[in-house]
Amino acid sequence: MHASFVELSKYLVLESKKGYNDKTIVGGFERLLPAWKTRAQDQGADEETIQYIVQKLDGYAKRSLDERKAIILDLTSYLQKPTAKTQQEEPGAIGHKAATCSPVVRSYQPKAVFAPITVIQGVGEKMALKLRKLNLRTLYDLLHYYPRRYNDYSRLTPIRDLQIGDECTISGAIQSIQKRKAKTSHLQMVEAIVGDGTGSIWITWFNQPWLTNRLNIGTQIVASGKVDRYMGRVCLNNPEWEPVNAEHLHTNRIVPVYPLTAGIQQKWLREKIFQAIHYWSERINDYLPESIRRDEHFPSLNEALKGIHFPQNQQALANAIERLSFDELFFMQLGVIRQKREWQALSAAVYSMDPDMLEKEIISLPYILTTAQRNALQEIQHDLASGNQMNRLLQGDVGSGKTVVARFAMEIVIRNGKQAAFLAPTAILAQQHFDTLSGMFWGDEILKKDEIALLIGDTPEKEKTEIRGNLAAGKIKLVIGTHALLEDPVEFQELQIVVIDEQHRFGVEQRSTLRMKGNNPHILIMSATPIPRSLNLTVYGDLDISTLTELPGGRIPVKTYLLFPQQKFIVYEKIKEQVEAGHQAFIVYPQIEGDEEEQNSLAVLDGYEQLVKKTFPQYRIGLLHGRMKQEEKDAIMTQFRNRALDILASTSVIEVGMDIPNATLILVEGANHFGLAQLHQLRGRVGRGDAESFCYLIPDEDSKMENERLKKMTQTNDGFELAEFDLKTRGPGDFFGTRQSGYGGLNLANISDIKLINRARIQATRLLETDPELQQEDHQALKYELENLWKARNGELS
Ligand code: ADP
Ligand code: MG
Repeated sequence: MHASFVELSKYLVLESKKGYNDKTIVGGFERLLPAWKTRAQDQGADEETIQYIVQKLDGYAKRSLDERKAIILDLTSYLQKPTAKTQQEEPGAIGHKAATCSPVVRSYQPKAVFAPITVIQGVGEKMALKLRKLNLRTLYDLLHYYPRRYNDYSRLTPIRDLQIGDECTISGAIQSIQKRKAKTSHLQMVEAIVGDGTGSIWITWFNQPWLTNRLNIGTQIVASGKVDRYMGRVCLNNPEWEPVNAEHLHTNRIVPVYPLTAGIQQKWLREKIFQAIHYWSERINDYLPESIRRDEHFPSLNEALKGIHFPQNQQALANAIERLSFDELFFMQLGVIRQKREWQALSAAVYSMDPDMLEKEIISLPYILTTAQRNALQEIQHDLASGNQMNRLLQGDVGSGKTVVARFAMEIVIRNGKQAAFLAPTAILAQQHFDTLSGMFWGDEILKKDEIALLIGDTPEKEKTEIRGNLAAGKIKLVIGTHALLEDPVEFQELQIVVIDEQHRFGVEQRSTLRMKGNNPHILIMSATPIPRSLNLTVYGDLDISTLTELPGGRIPVKTYLLFPQQKFIVYEKIKEQVEAGHQAFIVYPQIEGDEEEQNSLAVLDGYEQLVKKTFPQYRIGLLHGRMKQEEKDAIMTQFRNRALDILASTSVIEVGMDIPNATLILVEGANHFGLAQLHQLRGRVGRGDAESFCYLIPDEDSKMENERLKKMTQTNDGFELAEFDLKTRGPGDFFGTRQSGYGGLNLANISDIKLINRARIQATRLLETDPELQQEDHQALKYELENLWKARNGELS
């Protein structure tokens, strides 16, 4: 079956499982259809089948339960038949309901720009295949394939005035031209002298011997390139050139330079994009409403596309970039705000707990909850009792105490007899959370032993089957696990709250798979990745946010030091001191093994050997890295937690969430190889108990001591400050999985451009206030664009 149909079939199966309530997809099947249809068409699925499906599902939301059931069953069996492609259905069965679909949506047909790229003259199937590697499939893709940079060849300079190093454009006549072989290589060279009346210049082209057929003495050309000097002569090496009387595309203007792939030439691509822009940009609708364009003083889409590819001048380029960046942020905001509105509208069961009982439990904790923890808990209680589905992000720096907050959230639901699932990114963490949480739930006699389960990949199959049975029967009230929880056979009787720890390891899809296993469960996402406040509105704009702003009291901030490689002995002394005092230490390496034979100080395997044989033969040392089997890793972690090991030599696998309060020192070898977010996470492995803790950062070379990130680490322990810093210096890539948001539209926009984000947000809010469903005729192009950019999200299941 074609992939598009496979995808749809999955939704159909889910829909039947969920009792045909049209909640399989946020916003209902009708929301999915336009984007699915385009995608299916793009991917070359059979058109008749597509049409059949679309018609069949038309107006699904308004059908009765029995009608829906019939539709889903019909479609399912239709798609399963091997002859589906040719099978015909009598029109009567579907025709009479066609009118239920909004006629406005029907009338908007933006198809033309989604035509395959082969509609462009000179792009055949063969080139289309190569272009796919650049993700260029449709005309639309090509129009929005923005240059990586520009060569400003817009200044025509008299040859007399050329300066070495200038990017220049000259115009002149060929005075002499000849072919020769290079002396030292097999290169074919063409050498010419071009004069313009003010002077003359040498031009050399490499490996284009055919040029001597095109260029003769007297031919007038325009050439652009960088002015160089060779053997005392002013020259241009391999310049772009065009005949004087042609329309200039590669010279004599601000020339766009595109990212390429094998088999695609810069000049060729530039020409194709030029063709596409000039023919198509006039023919496509500007999706941005006139009023917004006027408000923001933006050029039209047509002008902006011309401006970003072939700008007349720098100002036109700047205007185009601003407009197109705004568009990206605007559509992101529209999607996020719309999603939030939808979530806020989703009803969910109401859960609460006797406040006195809750307070008693809080008081009996071995510590006092911080104000931030109490506030977060209150917000969660409010969500759970609101009747609407909770979609909350609980963010707090490492060690801020998120787990206990989640515990109470789950307890409230569990005390009402319903089920909770806790999802962790790794087996080690799942195990750790299982230990902590089962300790709490058994200890307080909230749950019996067999009402809590751990489900990870390595759980023996027999046990898995048993757990699954008990989950489906509702005997297990709390399950803690990894991705294994997401697997198909896992079903719940009544899953009502899902907690996802360290969410940056999970994509939107996984989140929704789990969500789909319950009936509108409440969702709490926990992240130790501090998101700069400035980004709250974008990346997680669809979630409500609680922030644990403070670390539990009595905690002494971790002391951080940056040392030269030859100062390592200082750390070794400190490790001795800590271990002698009964504490434990982590030593972290950026690699598992070195590339060469010799000892590699960056590799954990080498480092471990060194530690065991030379540095600390007297101590018990463990080894941990990602290539070890799960049982081995678990065994080592358990040993370390039980203090059967003094030192753990590890890769960054310990980065996330590991809670060993007795560990007081972490040494990061080759620290310059880690990102700031990672370093901060690593440091968070210590300082979790009452004892003073230390973090040592050692780069692999003296010169790396100047590393801004390492310096910043010694200046602050505040994750939010580090995140802000990282965002400013490096962009959002490392800290924030923007791709995980499901939004495919960010190419140009700078996600830390708060001003532009705010403008986009204001306009998006205003628009959705006046037309929440985007039903107005003049919003159809916009709606279409929105669906298209949020394709991934559209498939999200509620
Ligand atoms: P994280 O937010 O990084 O997930 P944890 O929930 O693992 O943090 O908590 C870190 C440690 O702090 C745990 O050992 C936990 O028992 C302890 N803790 C949590 N809340 C408090 C508090 N209010 N006071 C003191 N210790 C606390
Ligand atoms: Mg945690």
